Amino acid sequence: MNVLIKFGNFTGVITMGSLITYLFYPIILVASVSFAIFLNSKGFALTHIILLNALVFPGIILLFEFIHPETKDWRPRKSEVGVDILHAALSNTLPPLLFKALFFAAIIKLNSLITTNLGIDIWPHQLPIGLQVLLALVVAEIGFYWPHRILHENTPIWPLHALHHSVEHMYLLAGGRTHPLQVFVTYGLQMLILWLLGAPEKILMLHAVFTSTHGILQHANVKMRFGFLNYIFATPELHRWHHSRVIKESNSNYGSNVCTWDLVFGSHHYFADKLPSEDIGLPPSIVIPDNYIEHMKSPFVFNKYDSDL
Ligand SMILES: [Zn+2]
Repeated sequence: MNVLIKFGNFTGVITMGSLITYLFYPIILVASVSFAIFLNSKGFALTHIILLNALVFPGIILLFEFIHPETKDWRPRKSEVGVDILHAALSNTLPPLLFKALFFAAIIKLNSLITTNLGIDIWPHQLPIGLQVLLALVVAEIGFYWPHRILHENTPIWPLHALHHSVEHMYLLAGGRTHPLQVFVTYGLQMLILWLLGAPEKILMLHAVFTSTHGILQHANVKMRFGFLNYIFATPELHRWHHSRVIKESNSNYGSNVCTWDLVFGSHHYFADKLPSEDIGLPPSIVIPDNYIEHMKSPFVFNKYDSDL
């Protein structure tokens, strides 16, 4: 379907394909958060909203991977899909549960001590909900940005994160391929910040919904372009530079939801006139097999997988 545009002397045609390319990313993000706010207004439990979001939006993104892909070269191997399903089911779910069980009560107690001593609520409950969500995304991101950057730029701990970069095809499940130890640390630090600041349960839920949908979009094989959004969010385009096989390029764009701290700390890597390569993955000397047990062991026996060591 084509749409004819007339503006003064200008006449042009916008194709359905280009509408999807430019609008898919913002529409899916707004729809995901709006759907969660709607379910919340209808009295759904917060955990049920997170679960429903994790069922509905990956389904839509998967559909567009088939009808509007960035490249057909990113169709994953069956062995990749199998191992990444295990990462989605285990690596990304158990560490957050463990962190919450161990530290939630203590951190909330610390927050109430700070609040009582200061005599004020730190969290700005009076702000419109959209601004509160944006604030949560920006402040929590610092708990992801620095561990992520340190994992890249410090050789001894790089093996813990190398697993995530073993992804060779961007697709629906690629973002979940992360070692549970790393998930424990990065999830924990982000929650620590939000719990200490006293962010309400509803904002924590919306932060979780946005993070889940954005993490899938960031690694999806859907043709998308972003323009000025590359200066606000950690878009799939920025993240593809981060998955480059060239270390100089991959040591950049560390953000998961927003690129605020990349801009502040000088690691924002973006060219308006140049797209990142479709050839993503680790440098050729490192090969980690598609096997969940091998993935779990990989940080501790990394010399087995890196022929340069
Ligand atoms: Zn990384």
